Amino acid sequence: MVGVVETVRYTYRLRPGHRAEAALLAEWGRCRWLWNEAVHQQKTGRKPTFGKLSKMLTEARGRNAWLRSGSQVAQQQTLRTYGAALDSSFKVKGRGRPKRKRLKDALPSLEYTTRGFSIKNSRLCLPGKVTVPVVWSRELPSDPTSVRVYQDNLGHWHASFVVRRETPETPNADLPGIGVDWGVTTTATTTDPAFDLPHLGHRRRCAAELAKSQRRMARRRRPKGHAPSKGYLTAKRQTARIAKKAARQNTHDARVWAKNITDHHALIAVEDFKPKFLAKSRMARKAADAAIGACKRELINRGTRAGRKVVLVPPAYTTMTCSGCGERANLRLGLGVRIFKCAACGYTANRDLNAARTILATAERDRASADDVRHSIASFRDGGSDAVRAGNPPDSSEGSR
Ligand SMILES: [Zn+2]
Repeated sequence: MVGVVETVRYTYRLRPGHRAEAALLAEWGRCRWLWNEAVHQQKTGRKPTFGKLSKMLTEARGRNAWLRSGSQVAQQQTLRTYGAALDSSFKVKGRGRPKRKRLKDALPSLEYTTRGFSIKNSRLCLPGKVTVPVVWSRELPSDPTSVRVYQDNLGHWHASFVVRRETPETPNADLPGIGVDWGVTTTATTTDPAFDLPHLGHRRRCAAELAKSQRRMARRRRPKGHAPSKGYLTAKRQTARIAKKAARQNTHDARVWAKNITDHHALIAVEDFKPKFLAKSRMARKAADAAIGACKRELINRGTRAGRKVVLVPPAYTTMTCSGCGERANLRLGLGVRIFKCAACGYTANRDLNAARTILATAERDRASADDVRHSIASFRDGGSDAVRAGNPPDSSEGSR
């Protein structure tokens, strides 16, 4: 079977000792100094070439012995990142400075290409005889071409390797299509109940815990201009830990669910849900929002990667259209109404199931006729470049969940 070769990141937890951590932080200090120096020397309105930045690096290393003691690869990568940040800010606003000017408050992040790192005895070896134990939670699919070593807001270190991976393509033939409707109480209702994804309890528990620790943070906050208290910093750290845990659980559930759907369906019709409609409301809703976002992203990524047809259907009218006869009701269904009943043909079904069926029908109708307006969505932020938008006019979005 021929698969698709893609470049992906594999991330692992690092467990540096005291000496290694000190070395990483020192390295970060040098890179940060270099970034600030580049900002300082930058003349507004003129974009420096990478050659110019390299020259600056050579000069700076010649002048400063302490800078020379650091890794040249890491420092070059810092300037490369700086150049890229400049590039994008030039593109957006014609600005001569990167959006983030100073790295003072940024978390440590170091980048090494193949010349700068190696893996020996299952340890990550970095310049300056720094070796860091890696928690190999899964096997690397191939030799990595670069690595980013970074610290998160909990103080944990990670290594993110860039590798090439081959994904086997599973045959499409004879597989059915599926429609997916998003919601709060049931994260995903599909045309096949076996693939429904209930809103899992642990996420709600996380949301309550998160709200509690955020309240604690608010209580301990000192007025502006005063140094934060120890208790505040503890609460802040705890909040970050809970948020991270919830996000990790979301991602895990989403991956398992999306893989199952992708393995068993050729056409995947997804309600094109925009999280911001629900984000204004309560904590529980925000948690549901995050879950939907993660699931949608995973499903689109996995589906397109496996060569499935992924169609995004605008949410307008999906809950008020009959999936039996295609007739659209005149009135919008109230939020409390859980059963859909068609006035034209008498078809009755669970509201979300009816919506999922309408979503699938819309996608199938679009596929059947060749001259439908269908644009691939390169600008689609949630990932998935091959997904296709289809169906109803993007007129109104129903706030009906
Ligand atoms: Zn009907």
